[in-house]
Amino acid sequence: MKLKSILTICLLSSSLAPVQAQTARAGNETNPKHNMESVKQFMPAEASLAAIENPLLEKWKGAFGGTPLFDRIKVADFKPALETAMAEKLSEVEQIAKNAAAANFENTIAAMERTGRTLDRVQAVYGVWSSAMNNAEFQAVEREMNQKLAAFSDQITQNEALFRRIEAVYNSPDKTKLTPEQQRLTWLYYTNFVRAGARLKPDAKARLSQLNQQLAGLFTRFSQNQLADESERFLVLKSEAELAGLPQSLRDAAAQEATAKKMSGAWIVTNTRSSVEPFLTYSDRRELREKAWRMFVNRGDNGDAHDNNKIITEILQLRAERAKLLGYQTHAHWRLDDKMAKTPERTMELMEAVWKPAVARVREEVKDMQTLADKEKANIKIEPWDYRYYAEKVRKERYDLDQNEVKPYLQLEKLREGMFWVAGELFNFNFSPVTNVPVYHPDVRVWEVKDKTTGKHIGLWYFDPFAREGKSSGAWMNAYRNQERVDGSITTIVSNNSNFVKGKPGEPVLISWDDATTLFHEFGHALHGLSSNVTYPSLSGTSVATDYVEFPSQILERWISTPEVLQKFAVHYQTGKPIPQNLVDRIERASAFNQGFATVEYLASALVDMKMHLAGSQKIDPDAFERKTLSELGMPGEIVMRHRTPQFGHVFSSDGYSAGYYSYIWSDVISADAYDAFVEAGGPYNKAVAARLRKYVFSVGNTIDPADAYRTFRGRDPKIEALMRKRGFPVNDSKKGKLTPAKPKAKSR
Ligand SMILES: [Zn+2]
Repeated sequence: MKLKSILTICLLSSSLAPVQAQTARAGNETNPKHNMESVKQFMPAEASLAAIENPLLEKWKGAFGGTPLFDRIKVADFKPALETAMAEKLSEVEQIAKNAAAANFENTIAAMERTGRTLDRVQAVYGVWSSAMNNAEFQAVEREMNQKLAAFSDQITQNEALFRRIEAVYNSPDKTKLTPEQQRLTWLYYTNFVRAGARLKPDAKARLSQLNQQLAGLFTRFSQNQLADESERFLVLKSEAELAGLPQSLRDAAAQEATAKKMSGAWIVTNTRSSVEPFLTYSDRRELREKAWRMFVNRGDNGDAHDNNKIITEILQLRAERAKLLGYQTHAHWRLDDKMAKTPERTMELMEAVWKPAVARVREEVKDMQTLADKEKANIKIEPWDYRYYAEKVRKERYDLDQNEVKPYLQLEKLREGMFWVAGELFNFNFSPVTNVPVYHPDVRVWEVKDKTTGKHIGLWYFDPFAREGKSSGAWMNAYRNQERVDGSITTIVSNNSNFVKGKPGEPVLISWDDATTLFHEFGHALHGLSSNVTYPSLSGTSVATDYVEFPSQILERWISTPEVLQKFAVHYQTGKPIPQNLVDRIERASAFNQGFATVEYLASALVDMKMHLAGSQKIDPDAFERKTLSELGMPGEIVMRHRTPQFGHVFSSDGYSAGYYSYIWSDVISADAYDAFVEAGGPYNKAVAARLRKYVFSVGNTIDPADAYRTFRGRDPKIEALMRKRGFPVNDSKKGKLTPAKPKAKSR
């Protein structure tokens, strides 16, 4: 089976969970067992007839090796399509398991890579509807099918005969004759099957299957509750006076939102990050800031029908039981076992090394803000709903930098051209628009990616930039199809998704510096997918460990602030003039500003995630656990976790980033260290370093161990110093400086 045929990668600033992960990693991590009968039940006698007329089951047609038939999808088609495609894959897998010939790489591992082609296609489209076209009708399908998909994937990993064949290939002396990529793939299958319980006794397998299905149901409920609180709750502003401090772009967006909700004459702040954070930054009305803040941080925690607390308690208990069943101390140990970090302890070590300097920086930041508030005679003590507001004032005072001064230079479409230009410089890619492929919404546009020199087709890039009802908040990348060449060359199709507010007709969309950084970040994921140059789909593109996958995206963020991009693409939307150097210098000087806040709000979430999943089988009350953990950590009272547990979709809407939210800082240590390689070689467009980055990082997928790949690129293991410098923290604890343990050395004095 493809281990991760569809991958959604979410971003640090996103409240979106990796929605597709739970359905995509067939056989990877969350797998129950069901006998053949249960899947036959999925497939009524009429199913084969229905299949003929179901566009989801058709092969993708047209140029570029075929593209998704987005223009012909009906929600009612998903259930029969998934059922038919699951049944088809099961029968393909059964053929492999029953093969009378002795197991070898070709007839077992490579054969598995060829299974489930139909399911891959159906799930790619299913994932798009889940994250970008969601509605009540689709949610009903999700509630039913996500559990069935979990059962289905267990049915494969718990197939005894199949596992014996995989094990035979893995243990065969002939393994050394395979190519390194084939050996890696064999290792991956073996490891994933074992991790998913392939070695368990039948009754344990049955229990595991139950647990996985229960979890899949809870994950779906968790994300649907979160989506409900984000769409059904909002803050209504009724008068001009309530808009005090808000820049025009926010007022326009709020008015537009009100019109959409048929409340013309009012203004609406929606309950999403992209709406609430700017409001907290600019609103002069402290009591309204507090109201917006409370609404946002209490998502999933309102004691009503959409409350997520009980669901979390249950998820944690089921995960703890599953980890024990699989032979691991805790869920965290199970999750970390196949990551680059390997153990929870090493992630804790990194997080704790950064935590103290970050908290110390927060104390300084709060002091600066309090001084400013006192000077203004505001007569307040800084509270969490004041942080962004006063931070912005300090930024203006100290660095003479107003984010609104930067915005007119950041036009979405110009920045997109800038990203294309960077991809041309670093990877020799060329992007040209394509209009003859179907899209699922009129906002979606498509580009073909070719090699600049040879003109060879590389893949397609879909771009879905604007917010709308039924679309998850945040920003993410996913692959509709992975690059591979098992049976002839198949090129990739990737997409970038975000939630910018559409401008007025004819007017350019202006975005903030943070949003521009996010744009480059997601594009980094897309380039990771597009650069893929592997044979087997399970190892392709972004199918790497979650603590490594953010490295390519985070490093790409750096190119937005290169003079080349700023001069050519950060041009004023009215005058066309490039952003003034003086403003660039001020941005540069302010780059480590507020890093105490950013680091602490993130690390608090990452630490709570890890500690919750290290706590074992005790019954956890999420609110109490959160409070206790944060107080033990010495969490500054002026900051709240970036994702409080009742809204922590990364962790509770799938297994995706559970005990894995640390991944962002782990990857950022690597990306900061890697960017230094460019700096050391003379600059961000150094061709030799770019070629190495592509060869050893962006193109290799999961064909080699990430630690080895990085070492080949950099000549050594990543060090923490570059990250500390980037965030403006003191670099002094060099003992904890490396992500991978150094070889024992003679003691220095
Ligand atoms: Zn990302």
